[in-house]
Amino acid sequence: MTTSAAQFERASRHIPGGVNSPVRAFKGLHRPPVFIDHAKGAYLFDVENTRYIDYVGSWGPMITGHADEDVLEAVRQRLESGLSFGAPTEIESEMAELICEMLPSLDMVRMTNSGTEATMSAIRLARGFTGRDKIVKFEGNYHGHSDSLLVKAGSGALTHGEPSSPGVPASLAEHTLTLDYNDAEGVRRCFAELGDEIACIIVEPVAGNMNCIPPLPGFLESLREVCDAHGSVLILDEVMTGFRVALGGAQAHYGITPDLTCLGKIVGGGMPVGAFGGKREIMHHLSPLGPVYQAGTLAGNPLAMAAGVALLRKLRVPGFHIELTRKVEMLCEGLEQRASAAGIRLITQRAGGMFGVFFTDESAVSNFQSATRCRQEDFVTFFNGMLDEGIYLAPSAYEAGFMSAAHSDVDIQATLDAAERVFAKMTA
Ligand code: PLP
Repeated sequence: MTTSAAQFERASRHIPGGVNSPVRAFKGLHRPPVFIDHAKGAYLFDVENTRYIDYVGSWGPMITGHADEDVLEAVRQRLESGLSFGAPTEIESEMAELICEMLPSLDMVRMTNSGTEATMSAIRLARGFTGRDKIVKFEGNYHGHSDSLLVKAGSGALTHGEPSSPGVPASLAEHTLTLDYNDAEGVRRCFAELGDEIACIIVEPVAGNMNCIPPLPGFLESLREVCDAHGSVLILDEVMTGFRVALGGAQAHYGITPDLTCLGKIVGGGMPVGAFGGKREIMHHLSPLGPVYQAGTLAGNPLAMAAGVALLRKLRVPGFHIELTRKVEMLCEGLEQRASAAGIRLITQRAGGMFGVFFTDESAVSNFQSATRCRQEDFVTFFNGMLDEGIYLAPSAYEAGFMSAAHSDVDIQATLDAAERVFAKMTA
């Protein structure tokens, strides 16, 4: 038994499924998860000191690579001052100023401890601001695990919410309308019927929780249009895309101005942090200025802020995202070429520093239905083959991949060579 397998067995005795977040369990992959000992730059090292080139990056935050010296040093410097005070600190203003400068659609921002808290609070604020209950989300978009958002629907517009987890009351879920991603017409139809009852639309501007699905031209614009026409709040969930698709997030990349934005992952530099912010007029409804309650014992934690501020500052180096995007292109184009040479039908999709690999016969994947038509068994074989080659990809066909500035061309080349060997085995 490998050390990872032994540790997984131990973990499973007292932790449900052996993990503290389900996707880590490698369910359906026919092997136990890799237990990590440490990480540096583009590499993870497991408990047997096997090295992996990592394209998960702690699910997004590690955009400059693991154990970034500047981020670690910023945390070290704060460490001796104490871990938490439950009272304001100057670094919270530094963080707020930095975020509002980098994302000009935000006049004000409130820090939370996770992306889930950010989206949950933004929804509450939108409901409190508009005095309406209904919210719109898109099938296959994930916004964390709060009740209102843990809802999927049957297909098609105007399908009333059906909880996707036991424990979410149907009476709450029925306020969540789930529409098809990238279907501007469906959004217009929904708003024509119910627009004046809808508090907000929440959307992943690049869907990264059903692999990687960029918005079709006109889709995000249609959301802005209907929200303006009906007095609804447009919330961009940039927990994944923020600072990754471009320095100013997907909103800068696609030229869409939201009313509220949710952040997470990179904003905390690897510490448990989320944030939501937006127009002053809306943010003024938040407690203690206004009646919409939201709070957090550890929100704005000084160590977490130190890590986040240090990381965000590093991303402002001119050309950072151009270089990240070039590396994503090198990887994706290389994978497509090698798959095609091996006779494997595969496409890639990408946006800035994130990408997706789809085992599909279709020329593009633009919504949840087409994502589910991909060949799951080919993904499992590819994932396992790559892991055996020392390449750590997201352990699910429904997750995006993440590039970091620490990945060198040599790492990417090694990844492509590994893929070539795995493709050859897949067709043998
Ligand atoms: N929103 C998006 C787009 C996400 O990808 C995630 C997590 O992956 C969340 C929200 C929830 O964030 P957290 O896991 O920090 O609660």
